Amino acid sequence: MAVFKRKKFHVKHSDAEISPSTTEAVSSASSDAASRTDSSITTEPKESELAEIPSTNAKRNSKDAAALTPSSATYEDAPLAREIAEMTRRRRILAAENLPLPETTRVFTVANQKGGVGKTTSTVNLAAALARTGARVLVIDLDPQGNASTALGVEHRSDTPSVYDVIINDQAMSEVIQKSPEFPALYCIPATIHLAGAEIELVSLVAREQRLRTALDKFLAEVETPFHYVFIDCPPSLRLLTINAFVAAREVLIPIQCEYYALEGLSQLLKNIQLIERHLNPVLAVSTILLTMYDGRTNLANQVAQDVRDHFPDQVLNTLIPRSVRISEAPSYGQTVISYDANSTGSLSYREAAAEIARRGAPV
Ligand code: ATP
Ligand code: MG
Repeated sequence: MAVFKRKKFHVKHSDAEISPSTTEAVSSASSDAASRTDSSITTEPKESELAEIPSTNAKRNSKDAAALTPSSATYEDAPLAREIAEMTRRRRILAAENLPLPETTRVFTVANQKGGVGKTTSTVNLAAALARTGARVLVIDLDPQGNASTALGVEHRSDTPSVYDVIINDQAMSEVIQKSPEFPALYCIPATIHLAGAEIELVSLVAREQRLRTALDKFLAEVETPFHYVFIDCPPSLRLLTINAFVAAREVLIPIQCEYYALEGLSQLLKNIQLIERHLNPVLAVSTILLTMYDGRTNLANQVAQDVRDHFPDQVLNTLIPRSVRISEAPSYGQTVISYDANSTGSLSYREAAAEIARRGAPV
């Protein structure tokens, strides 16, 4: 039987840098974790171990039976009952909450040049969670992959008017905006595959970094019923599309996956945001950090979460988004988890995160 020995490591940063010793320690911890996973999947039990199984199970079964007798435990003590009670409690709190609406539109750029950390998932689910509570919310899909458009169930075939036409052809946002079938007050400006060429086309355009901002400001100024929130879903890069998003927004929301490598590009990301703030958008601020795909069973996830909290105590939301199958399967139905499985733990977590964002309000 493979024995997993967990190495102890300490993640320490100075100015949000990851030290080489940390890298070593953590990568060995992650490879330990990987070998544990591999062995648990591929290692066949030895014959001697197989012989042991029936008696072990028999012992366990008799213990379980004893544990279920009314004298030693009540149903309320069972883990499943506890979990259901906890979910019910969280649902009640959310249902009772009356969230404040911002007086002026809060524009968030959801960015992290690291791929697959939960940018799109967080964008669409936070947007849906806020729209569910009565806020008017717009999602701008600025990623040629068009994942946010898919999750919000809006058309984004190649001939659909999209954010590409806004940025490159000066088309008005009001002409490309679509209503998401998810919630009545949820809207999306979709991305199509054309956006993949926009990075190159932008290079030769006038005011190439400001094009999204110009279009968004005009749209927000002219729209009949004001929006409360705008979320811009960025591609996994720090090139011109993401720069356009930073220039258009006031707040940056950084999703961080609770795994070590997700932290690696963080200092680079923060440096870029500082540069944008200095030269292109003085009001830009990292207001929110959201820890995603958290698996509390691993030491690594806990260490990473703690480390991020130590460095960004004011920005990290208390709510952690757990790794959840429901969250990952919702987009395949063209839905957010908020509507796909409203009572799942993933949905509750995104609703709690959205409530925190609403309660905290915009940075002053
Ligand atoms: P990209 O950089 O490619 O745009 P991203 O940062 O937008 O990626 P997502 O697309 O949101 O990341 O998520 C990456 C993958 O992880 C997706 O398959 C998504 O369904 C899955 N995922 C995201 N969050 C969770 C979660 N909390 N639990 C389980 N799966 C998740
Ligand atoms: Mg994405």
